[in-house]
Amino acid sequence: MKLKLYSNNTRFAPSPTGHMHLGHVFSALFSYEAAKKLGGKFILRIEDIDTQRSGKVFEESIYEDLEWLKIKYSKDIRHQSKHMDDYTGAIKELQKLDMVYPCFCSRSDIKAEIMRAGNAPHEEESPIYPGTCRRLSKEERIEKLSIENNFAWRLNIRAASKKLGGLVWNDLRLGKHTVPVGTIGDVVLARKDVPTSYHLSATLDDHIQRIGLVTRGEDLVSSTHIHKIIQVLLELKSPIYLHHPLILDSKGIRLSKRTRAQTVKSLKASGLKKDDVIDLFGKENMLALLNLIK
Ligand code: GLU
Repeated sequence: MKLKLYSNNTRFAPSPTGHMHLGHVFSALFSYEAAKKLGGKFILRIEDIDTQRSGKVFEESIYEDLEWLKIKYSKDIRHQSKHMDDYTGAIKELQKLDMVYPCFCSRSDIKAEIMRAGNAPHEEESPIYPGTCRRLSKEERIEKLSIENNFAWRLNIRAASKKLGGLVWNDLRLGKHTVPVGTIGDVVLARKDVPTSYHLSATLDDHIQRIGLVTRGEDLVSSTHIHKIIQVLLELKSPIYLHHPLILDSKGIRLSKRTRAQTVKSLKASGLKKDDVIDLFGKENMLALLNLIK
């Protein structure tokens, strides 16, 4: 069956919070090759909403690495930090639909509430929000809003679940996902420190930038559940998704900034060539993934 995309554009959307490692390179190369195969634009988006952690040095090094890889992207690079109004507008829209509510809780409030309910939060994962601020009465909420101006906006997943009924989406590589929407939790769509979140800005931007095929690592599959919900609520265009396997180090651990994976910058300095990079990933692996797009 021929793949039906509403647009042939793909994108690479790095956060400039560190230097790229080989995992990013694989993602960028795959997305670039996919755009070439589809005859669409390859779009670069700088996901710099996290002003504390983002840096120009890292952004420059992304451009340098892409140039070294001979990856050509479209000139209109979108910096999320310059489009906060778009995200604020989307939150207003969700407020009108009654799908978000303000959350005044701190991290420690949330932990304490979970402990009270008898569950131990796992250190690594962010715990499912227990819904404290969802349960505020109208009066309590108005009262809090009048004295507190530092709050987040959370998705009311129960309301969303009611509206959606069910959620099923298909990944080109991993197949069909039937999502139990009610178990996702009330995720933050606009943070306390910035008026958006990864989920909201990435989903909205994929729509604004007409991304027909979203390719990214399989660690983001559970984020896609949330992005699909946002698309339905805001009536956004719905791209097709392909989550690719993650690049692991010699110990089988996923490369990440947190585990201080070797950066492209340091690999280049030690003599790595572009063709060596493709050999590292295995040409046939890349081709097998590209064959899923047809
Ligand atoms: N900025 C995100 C990251 O670097 C991109 C995730 C995505 O492709 O949606 O992990």
